[in-house]
Amino acid sequence: MPDKTIFQRIIAREIPSTCVYEDDVCYAFRDINPQAPTHILIVPKKLIVRLNDASPADQSLLGHLLLTAARIARDLNLGRGYRVVINSGADGGETVPHLHLHLLAGRSLRWPPG
Ligand code: 5GP
Repeated sequence: MPDKTIFQRIIAREIPSTCVYEDDVCYAFRDINPQAPTHILIVPKKLIVRLNDASPADQSLLGHLLLTAARIARDLNLGRGYRVVINSGADGGETVPHLHLHLLAGRSLRWPPG
């Protein structure tokens, strides 16, 4: 049995986190090292290592993650705007091998990202 990812341990409440939203499919919590005043991670409870590992069977789950980002943005009144990011693989900046969306807001975000 492979070790759990840090996000699986957070979802299982083995590691504390600040929950923003939870349902049967995903768990959203504040990033420990925020890159913006609001920085939330939205993580599927099902382990998918990265976007390339998602299959057509995950279509509804992937849509659910995006709709959850929009729902949280509404709940937190992020009306000035926000950014949703998926880092994938080494060059993409993925450090935790468990698919997740970053929801960033609260400052003017530059483009292109570094
Ligand atoms: P990645 O670099 O894989 O796209 O994003 C991983 C994110 O997880 C990083 O922004 C990092 O700060 C966050 N992170 C890593 N470990 C923990 C943790 O134990 N708790 C929380 N809340 N965030 C974490």
